[in-house]
Amino acid sequence: MVDPWLLLEAAVFLAVVSVVVWRTRALDAAGGAVAVLLGAVVYLTVGRGGALLLVTFLAVSAAFTRIGYERKRSVGAAELKGGTRGWRNVLGNGGVAGVAAVMSALDASNRHLYLYAFIGSVAAVFADTMATEVGLLSRGRVRRIIGFGEARPGEPGGVTALGYVGVLMAAMTSYAVSLLFFTNPLDPVKLLVTVLLASTIGATADSVAGQLLQSLYRCRVCGALTELPNHCGEPAELVRGVRGFDNQAVNAVCALTGAVVAAAVYAFL
Ligand SMILES: [Zn+2]
Repeated sequence: MVDPWLLLEAAVFLAVVSVVVWRTRALDAAGGAVAVLLGAVVYLTVGRGGALLLVTFLAVSAAFTRIGYERKRSVGAAELKGGTRGWRNVLGNGGVAGVAAVMSALDASNRHLYLYAFIGSVAAVFADTMATEVGLLSRGRVRRIIGFGEARPGEPGGVTALGYVGVLMAAMTSYAVSLLFFTNPLDPVKLLVTVLLASTIGATADSVAGQLLQSLYRCRVCGALTELPNHCGEPAELVRGVRGFDNQAVNAVCALTGAVVAAAVYAFL
């Protein structure tokens, strides 16, 4: 039976988050609705620590997206991405965490395993987002994660040293929130190893999937490189990756990698 006070707390918390998301336009309407639904599920399964971890990810990512926004736009990274953060973005980043959260409630004998998978999944997508947003501020060269050659800023598969500073910032933030606010006490050392490995390996898997699998198109009208299958009102030409394997599919790879790494650390450490 769910504690009525927890229901009230969740309702108030989610209402406040909804207003902030709406006022800051961090997500569009459908994205906001799916995010609130995900938040409610996490609140009632993982507890307030899980919901706080998601909100921290959302808030810190949104703040870092705004830092140096003009510069990010001038290097073309903003155009390359295209579109706002919608429901597909929420599911790509949070879908795996949502499943882990539900499993932590359904399979009580393995609750901690799924809690670690939940934390690992959020830590990984948080790290990947921060790698992009902090990495885009880098004035150094962008390397391809596989092979040689330079990548354009914001290009899938491009990595920078500064990006990995972003990964570390996300990992330490995820660690602090999980350690302080999870109602189930978590082992501090095990949690630290989990979060560091899930963040680093998850963000790296995202870059690898981004370079090898993510679809990149060239507009037949204006010649721009884009992640969108249509540009200038015309279907664009596929120049790299697998058709339809978009940024959200890559995010889901990152989220799943983080969850699997975390579950493995929990099981074997
Ligand atoms: Zn175009």
